[in-house]
Amino acid sequence: MEFEAWWLIIIPLVFSLGWLAARLESRSDAQTQVQMPESYFKGVNFLLSEQPDKAIDAFLEVASVDTATVELHFALANLFRKKGEIDRAIRVHQFLTTREQIEATDRERATFELGVDFLRAGILDRAEAAFVSLLETQMKAKAAGQLLELYELEKAWDKAIEQANRLREYGAEIPVADIAHFHCELAEQAFQNNNQDTGKVHLQNALLTNPSNVRASLLLGEMYLGQGKYQEAVGQWRSAEAQNPWYLPLIGPKMWEAFRALGQQEEGIAALTEYGQKYPSIDLLLVLVNALEECKGPDAAFDLLRAQVRARPSLLGLDKLLERQLRDMVDDERIKDLSLIRELIAKHTQRLERYRCQSCGFQAKKFYWQCPGCASWDSIVPRRAEELDFYPVVGKAKAAA
Ligand SMILES: [Zn+2]
Repeated sequence: MEFEAWWLIIIPLVFSLGWLAARLESRSDAQTQVQMPESYFKGVNFLLSEQPDKAIDAFLEVASVDTATVELHFALANLFRKKGEIDRAIRVHQFLTTREQIEATDRERATFELGVDFLRAGILDRAEAAFVSLLETQMKAKAAGQLLELYELEKAWDKAIEQANRLREYGAEIPVADIAHFHCELAEQAFQNNNQDTGKVHLQNALLTNPSNVRASLLLGEMYLGQGKYQEAVGQWRSAEAQNPWYLPLIGPKMWEAFRALGQQEEGIAALTEYGQKYPSIDLLLVLVNALEECKGPDAAFDLLRAQVRARPSLLGLDKLLERQLRDMVDDERIKDLSLIRELIAKHTQRLERYRCQSCGFQAKKFYWQCPGCASWDSIVPRRAEELDFYPVVGKAKAAA
């Protein structure tokens, strides 16, 4: 890790201020001379010669001699953390929390920093204990904020929501878009346990928290579909268009299923055609092609697919076009030729059909609302990598307020 230059200023400054304050405070005799210990100058020298490890050892020597230098301890622990030496940061912060002659506010601050150390080290139970101990102190808002992040990491969604409510009571800002997803996660768990009513309440809470949360609308539609309430399902998905239409490809096949169950195939094809024109998507196109084949036969389906691939050439579209051509082909030699072309294309389409996180670049075959790579919510959009090259930025499900 590259050593950051600003430490060259901060460490000696913090130290010398702390040292002087401590000396002046304890000075009973006006004649007492204020002297810096030799180790301090050694430490500064090491810092200037970019030898942070030796500088740390020198400053620790000073700190162990003069225990009044609280700020120096904080600065050192911060330096350890920056260097990735979490265990040393923990030791310094633990030392501060156990010191008798220390202000209550400094002890709370040290406890908070200790919690952050444990969080970084992945020792979540001890991080949680540190933050929980601060919930009745001046540090309560910062502690609740850290607990929210910790519970999100543990996927303890109900506890994370509890901390969000606490933060709201304190008048602190909360990540409403993320919290709406916590409600959706709880809803999905409830549906998996066949608890429809609880799931619905969680989804309503998601929409109360963030009216723009398109995921809740998509899930509500799926819930209605499962209950055989096809009209409600379609209505719910149509309202999702107003929230964020870029997510419609996620429910394309289910939307077609609902229209078919209602006996409204014509309306279904019209809706899919409209969405496909307004918000082009290979996934929506394939749903429409299958719907057309079902209602109007393979020729109509093939004509549409060919027209769309010609209008918006893509390897993913070409692969599907070849697949259909091969299906109806009788000439053995031409089948061999086209199969070879398709195999070559398939090598590329595997990479092109992945979803991609717009924050960290993580790619996956499956769609995730929360990126497994960087833990961002809504950073993966339901468009295949090849499509993102056409549309580098598509709408994110932002919070409404
Ligand atoms: Zn990511």
